[in-house]
Amino acid sequence: MSHTYLIIAEHRDGKIRQVTLEALQAARTISHDGDRISAVLLGSELDSLASQLSGYPLSEIHLIDHDGLRHYNPEAYVGALIPLLDSLRPDAIFTGHTALGRDLAPAIAAQLRAGQLSDVISLEGNGEGAIFNRAIYAGKAFEKKQFQSFPWVVTVRPNNFPAIEPSSSGLQNDQIIKVEYTPPTSLHTLVKEVVRKTTGKVDLTEAKIIVSGGRGVKSEDGFKPLEELANVLGGAVGASRGACDSGYCNYALQIGQTGKVVTPEIYIACGISGAIQHLAGMSQSRIIIAINKDPEAPIFKVADYGIVGDLFEVVPLLTQEFRKA
Ligand code: FAD
Repeated sequence: MSHTYLIIAEHRDGKIRQVTLEALQAARTISHDGDRISAVLLGSELDSLASQLSGYPLSEIHLIDHDGLRHYNPEAYVGALIPLLDSLRPDAIFTGHTALGRDLAPAIAAQLRAGQLSDVISLEGNGEGAIFNRAIYAGKAFEKKQFQSFPWVVTVRPNNFPAIEPSSSGLQNDQIIKVEYTPPTSLHTLVKEVVRKTTGKVDLTEAKIIVSGGRGVKSEDGFKPLEELANVLGGAVGASRGACDSGYCNYALQIGQTGKVVTPEIYIACGISGAIQHLAGMSQSRIIIAINKDPEAPIFKVADYGIVGDLFEVVPLLTQEFRKA
């Protein structure tokens, strides 16, 4: 029996988010020949996003394009999606484990009375037999889960599945379907404006390289060498809660149990002791490099490479060397 999978596509600043291509890869991984994999885009002025997404292997793209969906609002988005879900009847819905996905996925699952799994890091098997792997207890253990019946709603952790490759043939115009949307006459809340607290060029949760600072950076200015290194490497800057609590940086940068969970290719921890709550957010990074002046710092236990030294000497040297490369 063939199945229908739906990807809720996320976008930011006029670009399809990387995690959407990873969610699409996750759906492809468990699909069989003959299965239908579609995507839905919500927002306003979606034409260019639809044309970006149409380069990937999808059966069709549904566009719910309305000014009232310009900013994410769970009530509006769920209301906009339900009629489409009623007509498509997808067996499974995949989206990113992002701020939006974490909020939207359970709301949709509740509406559909569907099973839901969050923060999936890998998959085994196909179709209804698929087994989903998730990190639990702040990354100290893993669990494997299987749904007992369709439908499912799944969120995938950014940077854990390879992004799907573009397809050789794009979608035809008639495979991009505009979905009628009539906004409700009243919503309980309205998003009037979104004020960004970070101006980083690279999204922290999707960054391939993160240079992260802890209390050891000692001041707001102490983050500057880290920003320079991140710039040279094309990465993003993160932080420990120690650094955030000390007022050296914005909480939007916090990585850990009560911050963001990241899985970059390279995580460079500078002046971070390695408390368990911090490790919960970064220990799944592929390569961890720690710079700390205390050779006994617990971060060295999880680090692949350790540099015992003063970050204010080591980080500028690294920046200088990488600039040459
Ligand atoms: P510290 O532990 O003070 O470590 C600073 C390090 O910098 C030291 O190892 C020191 O040797 C080194 N250092 C100092 N100067 C230099 C220098 N010049 N060069 C090199 N190294 C230097 N923490 C998180 O990070 N994320 C979370 O999400 C989080 N959630 C939490 C939730 C709960 C419920 C609780 C109780 C705590 C949470 N914490 C979290 C806090 C966590 O327990 C630690 O307090 C915090 O991670 C410590 O931050 P830090 O490593 O920057 O600071």
